[in-house]
This record gives sequence, structure tokens and C-alpha cells, in this order.
Amino acid sequence: MRLFIAALFSICAFAQPRNAILIITDAEGVAGVCRQQQVEQGNAEMQRLLTGEINAAVRGFLKAGAPQVVVWDGHGGSWTLSAQTIHDDARLITGSPGPKMLLDSGRFAAIAFVGQHARANRERAVMAHSYSSLGIQKLTMNGAEVGEIETRAALAGAFNVPVIFLSGDRAAAEDLHAIVPEAEVAIVKEGLSYYSCESMSAAGAQALIEKQAEAAWRKLARIKPYRVDGPVTIEMELTTRSTPSPDAVPGEGVERIGPRTLRYRGKDFLEAWTRWSGR
Ligand SMILES: [Zn+2]
Repeated sequence: MRLFIAALFSICAFAQPRNAILIITDAEGVAGVCRQQQVEQGNAEMQRLLTGEINAAVRGFLKAGAPQVVVWDGHGGSWTLSAQTIHDDARLITGSPGPKMLLDSGRFAAIAFVGQHARANRERAVMAHSYSSLGIQKLTMNGAEVGEIETRAALAGAFNVPVIFLSGDRAAAEDLHAIVPEAEVAIVKEGLSYYSCESMSAAGAQALIEKQAEAAWRKLARIKPYRVDGPVTIEMELTTRSTPSPDAVPGEGVERIGPRTLRYRGKDFLEAWTRWSGR
């Protein structure tokens, strides 16, 4: 049986070549999006602006020769994108793709971020937060503050998959360049403060994104995966409104190090990540 499963697995791996790109989408890093109201569920303007940027990235990747582009609707519970308006030749993932984001499937050669914001506690960064502005005050990995960019880059890196492209505000681009200097970026706006920005036009941003996405796929072989060596510690400081009960019993590899702070340890990134994302 075990042999049969191993054989089946290798056939599946063969049938699915590692040549697709996964675009992780968000809203706070989209050109023209600077206010809380714009990122709330069902905001039609944001949906149009974000979809325009995603489709520009899809065009760039396809033009450079990417065989398949898969888009994950990653903002606010996956209610933002529609198969009616996504690029004709892209595929769309709605809902949660799980803690490993399908990166363990062996299907993806690269990941990209579109509409991405910087990590929490960054200055001059539009709506900068780490996963949840309501729930998480601060997230660190091995002592350094991180957000979605760093942790998802590390997740992809654990499967040897590089981040090749990001579009968002300048702070988000800087966050990615700090860990993946070779990645291509499209800086579509400058954060003036948390809720104000100076932005490119939608058309200007889309043209830039298409060009940079194309350049990113062309240099894919020269972009290194971001690998975080073990052991790994992830610490999460919750917001006051998310203060856990003092009676809550932390799971294996998890300890409470303050009234609102939890520490997740792992022998490697994946173990710490699995414990954190399973919280
Ligand atoms: Zn986000």
C-alpha cells in the first residue's frame, strides 16, 4: 500500500510540473486605496482597482512565458474577487488554501504579492498591519518584527519557492527587498501616514505592474528563495481587545510570556508556523 501511494505520488508530481505562479492578493497596497472604508467588504471601487492590478500582473507573467497563473483572493476572508472579472486565462482560489497555501503541492515555481501592505508598526506605510489590525499588535520571527510579506516568503522558502514580485506602497516594497533584494517591485503609492497616501493613477499603476511582473518572471532563475533556518520562534502580541483568558491552556510548543503575548517554538520554520497558524 505504502509503495502504491509513493508511486501514485510520483505520478502526480510528474503530471503537475512545477511551473505555475501563485499571486497572493490584498487590498491595502492597491493604488488609490488609502482609507479604511475602501478596504471593507463589498467596496466596489476597491474591487475594481484591485482586479485591475491583478489582471495587469497576470498579463505580465503570461507575456514572459509563465504557463499558469493562479490568483488567491487573500483580502478580508476571500470575498473580494470574482471569476467574472479576473483575467480570462488565470485561475482563481476563493476561501482558505490552508496554512501551507498549497506550496507543498510542488506545483508552484514562484509566488507574487499584489496590493500588499507593510508589516505592523511601520511608519509612512498605508494601513500597515500584520494579518489582523484588530487582533495583532506585533508579530516577530526570531526577534525581528514581521508581517505577511516575511512569513509568507519564509513559508514559500521552506518549499524552495522564491517571491519574485510585489506591488504595493513603498514601505511594503522595502519590507520585501530587505529579505529578497532581487525581487522586482511596483511601487504604486507612497504612504504619508496610516490613512493617507500619494498614489499613482489606476492606469499608471497597472502599466507599471505589467512591466515589472514580466521582468520578474524573466529573471525567475536568478531570484533566491527566502530560507529561515531553524530553530524558529514566532511571538505574537495581541491587541487589548483580543486579550486571552488567563485560564487558556497553550498547546504543545506554545507558551504565554505576558498577559497578551504568546510564543510559538519550532525546530524549523514549518513547525513554528504550523503551531502559530493553528492557534
Ligand atoms: Zn494583509
